[in-house]
Amino acid sequence: MGSARQRSTGLVDELQSSHRFTIGVLVSVLVLSLFTSGYLILVSQPRLTNYVELAREARDVHEAMLDQETGLRGWLATGDPIFLEPYTAGRAASAASVSGLLSDVKSSPDVTDGVVSMLLARQRWESWASEAAAMRVTPAQRTDGTLARFLLDGKELFDAYRERDLVSTSAIRDHRTQALTRQTEAMVAVLASYLVLLAATAAITMRRRRRLQAALLAPIEDLHMTISRIRTGDLSARTEPTTVPELAEIGNALGELAATLEEAEVAATDREIRLAFLANRFETVVRVGREIAGSLSIRYVSSTVTTAAAELLGTTTTLWLRGEDQGFHAVHRSTDAHGAPAPSTLVPPAVVLSAATGAVPVSTDSRRAYPLVLAGTVTAVLQVETPVVDDDTDQVLVSLLSTAAAALESAHLHSTARELADMDGLTHLPNRRRFEIDIDTEWERCRRYGRPMSLIMMDLDHFKRLNDEHGHLLGDQVLREVATAVNGVLRSTDTAYRYGGEEIVVLLRETGLEDAALAAERLREAVSVIRVVEHPQVTVSTSAGVAARHASMSHYTGLVSKADKALYEAKRLGRNRVAVDGDGGLGETLFRGSPGPSPVTPT
Ligand code: GH3
Ligand code: MG
Ligand code: MG
Repeated sequence: MGSARQRSTGLVDELQSSHRFTIGVLVSVLVLSLFTSGYLILVSQPRLTNYVELAREARDVHEAMLDQETGLRGWLATGDPIFLEPYTAGRAASAASVSGLLSDVKSSPDVTDGVVSMLLARQRWESWASEAAAMRVTPAQRTDGTLARFLLDGKELFDAYRERDLVSTSAIRDHRTQALTRQTEAMVAVLASYLVLLAATAAITMRRRRRLQAALLAPIEDLHMTISRIRTGDLSARTEPTTVPELAEIGNALGELAATLEEAEVAATDREIRLAFLANRFETVVRVGREIAGSLSIRYVSSTVTTAAAELLGTTTTLWLRGEDQGFHAVHRSTDAHGAPAPSTLVPPAVVLSAATGAVPVSTDSRRAYPLVLAGTVTAVLQVETPVVDDDTDQVLVSLLSTAAAALESAHLHSTARELADMDGLTHLPNRRRFEIDIDTEWERCRRYGRPMSLIMMDLDHFKRLNDEHGHLLGDQVLREVATAVNGVLRSTDTAYRYGGEEIVVLLRETGLEDAALAAERLREAVSVIRVVEHPQVTVSTSAGVAARHASMSHYTGLVSKADKALYEAKRLGRNRVAVDGDGGLGETLFRGSPGPSPVTPT
């Protein structure tokens, strides 16, 4: 059975072999039966028949002899011719049988000698019998012993015949028995052959059937199992290798089908994962877009976009913004704290500059810098530490950055508009509108926490005259110089505003009257040393009024009014000087400036 499994026998081969075997067995049976029939017809049966014939004829001869002998004995005893009748009939019958015997004995040489010897003995007796039949027995012959002697001769001859006949008949009988035995044996042998052949055929057929079953059943069962597993979704199911080529082919086809299905399933899963990934990423883009769209702060938009991109890509990102100088400056790095600006010392790398020039992601395959384009202009560049390799992520990033570009532009426009609204165009100092907002806020804070705050009101001296003498352009230039000088003197917590034409107001946070008066004096001095390069002879001076918040003041306008009054007093007392609000508790403290105008008193 093992060898049957190892041999690669096809079903068709197997069936053809079974067919050949069946035909072989049939032919063998046919040959065997032909041989048996031939043996029976040509050899065994004629010989047997011959012996049977010989036996019968020998018996007929013998019976005819007995008839003759009995008849002759009556004749010789009685002399009555009636007794010659059986003799004559026996003699004729004997002759007829002998001729048959002689012709049949030719076919059986085994018994010829015995039969011839018997016939010779018979012939000898029949010569005596012929003599006896012709004899007329006289009474003398009956008594003198002649007849008795004659009868004795006949008896001796007949006995000799009987003896020969017994030998011959028994030889014929023996040979007949032998022939019969041989025939029977042949028949038994043939029957046995049939049985052996049948048994062998049955055994071989059974063996073949078992072999075929073994070769077919296991693979078919395996196929069935595999189909069931595939049907229930187990696409990894495969059939075991089989030596039956047809079943192996079906198994392979099934395996290929399952593999195709498996591939399709994997592809579908991949698609699903990709779609989920994209949905998730676009959700981030939409969320970030919503967050930054409403923001008016460039810093907030920058840090939000940089952080979102870093999370999206899993790498460090840096956002570079185009500045007023057209150069690119890092505004945020994903590794910095949210909202913290990137160090201003960072120098834009080549990829950033290249992306800014080409307005496309730097080298498509490496994708290390993405420009943010608005109306054909690159307003910013997102630098990516590890290049983006996947197209989907690239698409998501591009989509995020297009939203970011719009948000950044919107924040930029807003801040510009705000700057313009709050800033004085000539001096670049915050304007009076800004001052009103800031002092209102600061006033509230100081009032709530009982903190000090002061104001310095400045007005340039005889500015009208300066304009008249040197022209408005120079007047404007002087105003700008004054603004610069003022900002140079102030602390970072103090703010100077252009209040009116050539009037500047300074808001001093956390500052009492005394410190404010000192600050005012520093301002006065700073203004007094201003010189215009083209007109070195032109000098400028300022008068200043100082006031501090007092618990009795209910509104900041009270503080402004006090500072204004002090300023008026400084003017009145001769200009280029500082006058301090008397309510601040400083009494008569005052500051004088060169060129030494008349002293002033507190208002
Ligand atoms: P005073 O010492 O009393 O202050 O004398 P003044 O001439 O400065 O008088 P006032 O403060 O009333 O005059 C303000 C003058 O400042 C009027 C105007 O010619 C001039 N001025 C106001 N705004 C500007 C400006 O933006 N540019 C120039 N060049 N001059 C200005
Ligand atoms: Mg004025
Ligand atoms: Mg003036």
